[in-house]
Amino acid sequence: MSKLIAFAAIQGGYKVVAQAEGAYHKALETYNADTKVGFPNTGYYLPVIYSLFGIKIETLEDMKAPLEIARGLLPPHIKGKHWLPYLGPLLDAGMAGIISYEIIEALRYLNEPDFYLHAEDPDIEAGKLWTGAADDVVFRKRGVEFVDGSAPGFAAIVGSAPDPEIAKMIVEDYQKKSLYIFLAANHNGTTVAEQLIEAGVQIGWSTRIACFGPDISSAVFALGFANRVAMAFGGIEPGDYKKILKYNKDRVFAFVNALGDVGTEWGVAAAGAVNWGFPTLADTDITQILPTGICTYEHVVAPVAYDEICQKSIETRGLKVKVSEINIPCAFGPAFEGERVRGADLFVQCGGGKTQCTELVKSADMNEIEDGKISVVGPDITDLKQGDTFPLAIYVQVAGREFQEDFEPILERQIHHLVNYIQGIMHIGQRDISWIRVSKAGVEKGFTLKDIGVVLHAKFHQEFEKILDKVQVTLFTKQEDVDKWTKIARDEYHTRDARVDSMTDESVETYYSCTLCQSFAPNHVCTVSPERTGLCGAYNWMDCRASYEINPTGPNQPIEKGECLDPKLGQWKGVNEFVKKASRGAIEKYNLYSMVYDPMTTCGCCECIAAMLPSCNGIMTVGRDYLGETPCGMKFTTLAGVMGGGASSPGFVGHSKYNITQGKFLLGDGGLLRMVWMPKMLKEELKDRLIARGEAMGVPGLYDMIADETVGITEEEILPFLQEKGHPALTMESLIG
Ligand code: SF4
Ligand code: ZN
Repeated sequence: MSKLIAFAAIQGGYKVVAQAEGAYHKALETYNADTKVGFPNTGYYLPVIYSLFGIKIETLEDMKAPLEIARGLLPPHIKGKHWLPYLGPLLDAGMAGIISYEIIEALRYLNEPDFYLHAEDPDIEAGKLWTGAADDVVFRKRGVEFVDGSAPGFAAIVGSAPDPEIAKMIVEDYQKKSLYIFLAANHNGTTVAEQLIEAGVQIGWSTRIACFGPDISSAVFALGFANRVAMAFGGIEPGDYKKILKYNKDRVFAFVNALGDVGTEWGVAAAGAVNWGFPTLADTDITQILPTGICTYEHVVAPVAYDEICQKSIETRGLKVKVSEINIPCAFGPAFEGERVRGADLFVQCGGGKTQCTELVKSADMNEIEDGKISVVGPDITDLKQGDTFPLAIYVQVAGREFQEDFEPILERQIHHLVNYIQGIMHIGQRDISWIRVSKAGVEKGFTLKDIGVVLHAKFHQEFEKILDKVQVTLFTKQEDVDKWTKIARDEYHTRDARVDSMTDESVETYYSCTLCQSFAPNHVCTVSPERTGLCGAYNWMDCRASYEINPTGPNQPIEKGECLDPKLGQWKGVNEFVKKASRGAIEKYNLYSMVYDPMTTCGCCECIAAMLPSCNGIMTVGRDYLGETPCGMKFTTLAGVMGGGASSPGFVGHSKYNITQGKFLLGDGGLLRMVWMPKMLKEELKDRLIARGEAMGVPGLYDMIADETVGITEEEILPFLQEKGHPALTMESLIG
C-alpha cells in the first residue's frame, strides 16, 4: 500500500478504536454491564464480530473482548515509521477499525433506538432515510440472491457525488448490472441517498439501494451482511475467519466507491474492506494502491471519472458480467442450429459467393471499447427488399485481463453456431467466406443485423466469462467498409496461419481434435496437426491448443498420436483410437495425408474440396467462393452436398486453403505436385506461397503449370495444357494404385 493511505488508515485505526473504547466506557457509566445490546431482529448478533471470532455479543459486558482484539490488532505505533512495505499491518489496522465500527453502531442502537428506521425502505416524507442493519427477514430475502446468481454482489458507496445527476447515473449503472447498492457515510454533510431522492430515484431494499446510515461506521452493515451470506448460504461456521473472508473474496463481488475526501476514518474502512477482498475506487486523487495481493486485482484505484467508475469497479473487482437474457425478437437456441433457409423461405442473404461476408474477432484495450455497444454501420435488413443481397463485415472486439491474442480465432469460430442458433437465420462458413441467409419468417419476427451483435455479446460473455470482460460488435454493410475490413481480416488470418508455419508434424507428439462440427456432421472429427489445419481454415494446431486451455472439456482435445502406422499416408494409432471413439465407432481409421486412401472426414464448412482427376493423373481443388463448373464434373456446392456430412469419401477430401501449401498436403498422394487445376481466384490468392512451395518441392515453375477455368473446366480441356507445360503429375506413378 502506498505511504499516504497507509498512514491515513493506520492513524484511522488508532482513532476509531479509541472512539469505540470511549463510547463503550461512556455506556458502562450509563447502563449496567448486563444491559442487552445488538442489532434488531437477528440471530447473528453483531455479525462481523460473530462470524470472524465466534463471539456472541449479547450484553455490554460482551463487548469487552472484541475491543481488546481490536486494540491488539493495531500495528506498533513507532513514531515516523508508520509505513511498512507490506500489507499486513494495514489489514490489521483496517480490521481493528471495522470491529470498532460495529461496536460503535451497536452502541448507537442502544443510545438512540429510533435513529434508524426499522423498515425495508426509507420513509421519505418523515425524513427518515436510514434503515441501519438489515434484519434477518430482509437478509434472508436479499442474501439468497447473492448465492443464486441474481445479484453478483454489491457496490458500497460512501460519501456523495458532486451533484444528484451524477449520483443517479452511477447508481443506475450498477442497477443495470444487477448489483446491490449499499449507501453509507456523507461527504461534507451530503449523502448519496439524499441526492438520489432529489434526482427522483426510488431508494430502498426494494430497488436494491440499501440506505445503511449517514456515518462511515454504518458501512460496517455492508460487511456484516456479506458475512451473514457466508454463514447462512456458504455454510461456514462462525469463528472460521479465514473461510469467511475467503468466501467473500471468491463469491461476493463487492467493492467500495469512495466519493469525497478520503480521510483517516474512510481510510481505515477501505483498509478493512481489503481483508474481504473488496477494493476501493475513489473519485479523488488519493494515492493508488495498485499491486495486487489480497483483492483479485488492485486494492485502491484513484482518481476515477464518474462515468467510468462503474465499469472500472467491476473490472477491478474481477466481476464477470452475466448476460442471462438474449434480447432479440427471434427464438434462440441450439434447437435451431440445424435449420435451413431454403430458396422459397429466403428474404435476403450475404456472402456465399454472391457478396463479400467477413468475420473478424480482435482483442482490444480495456478502455478502447465499450461493453455491449453494438452498431450497424450502413443499411440494415429493414432497408432491403426480398431477394436482395448485401455485403457484410462482422467485427467483434473483445477485452479482458486474461485475454490472449491466441484466443481470437476460437471466439471467431463461435460466430458460426451462434448465428445459427437464431431461429430463421442460417450461417455457413467462416472467416472471409461466410454466408448468411435470412428467412422471411425471421424478418417478420423483426430480425435485424443488430441482433447478431446482441447474440454475440451475450453468448461470448456466457461462454467465455473466464477470459473476457468486454465485447463490442460492429456490423458494416457498406461496400467500401466491407472491403476495408476484409483486407484487414485477411492480414489477420495470414498472421494466425503463419503461427504454425515453422512447425512440422514430426516436431510434436500431440495433435488436437476438433468436433465442433458434429452438430451438423455427427461423425465428423477433424484431427488438427501443425501441418494440417482444420478444414474450415479457422483452426490451426495453435488455436486448438489455446481452445483446450480455455475449455479443457470442450471440442478440442489433445490426441497423443502414438505409434506411426503409415508415415507416408499419415496414420497413427493414437489418432485412429481417438477418431473411432469420437465418431462413436463410425470411422475406424483415417489418413492425414491422403485423399485416395481412407481420407479424413469432411464436413460442410470446409474451405476447399479436393477431387481426383484420373485422366490427368492428378488432383484438383475448388474453394467455396468459386461458383462455376470444375473438371471433376461437380461444382463446389454439389461436392459439399455429397461429401459434407462427415463421411470419409475416398477420392475426395475437404481441406483449408492454407493447407494447400502446407508441407504435408496430400503428401501420401504425391502432394502439391499432383495439383493440376484450381480456380483462378484461389490460385492468385495463394500465388506467393504456391510458387515458394513449388520451388521447395523441386518444381520451380509449378504455379504456371496449374490450369484454371480460363484453360478449361473439363479434364479433356486441360490435359493438352498440362502436357504442353510438362506438369509433373503426368509422369508421376499412377494415382489409383
Ligand atoms: Fe473444427 Fe474441423 Fe469444424 Fe473447423 S471444420 S470447426 S476444425 S471440426
Ligand atoms: Zn464443419
